[in-house]
Amino acid sequence: MIRIDKEVFKGMKALAEDNHPNEVIVLLRGKRSGDEYHITEYLIPPFGFGSKRSASFPAHMLPMDFSILGTAHSHPSGNLNPSTRDLHSFYGRIMLIIGPPYSMDNVAAYTKQGKSIPVQVKSN
Ligand SMILES: [Zn+2]
Repeated sequence: MIRIDKEVFKGMKALAEDNHPNEVIVLLRGKRSGDEYHITEYLIPPFGFGSKRSASFPAHMLPMDFSILGTAHSHPSGNLNPSTRDLHSFYGRIMLIIGPPYSMDNVAAYTKQGKSIPVQVKSN
């Protein structure tokens, strides 16, 4: 289960909307205990790049940071499935995909193995 702080989700939503119809990618920071993830912050990766078909960043430019749980990116097409490329460029432990209209009902989360995991916004 992944829980995202409400303010964090709002920020990601605004970013996805602003970049539409291009994809945008962010890094997710937070805490993990076992299979429970709590996302408390998102970061815009240095030199991130988003086009209509993909979003990426040069992972080697990042400092070693163990509080990075994974990434979130938008799929302006609305298809919430990870692409082959998404799975190959997986960074961290979890990957969130958000589609228009970028509401909580349009978020999917996956493990590195491509397995879907439940995600919810924490109202705080
Ligand atoms: Zn993707």
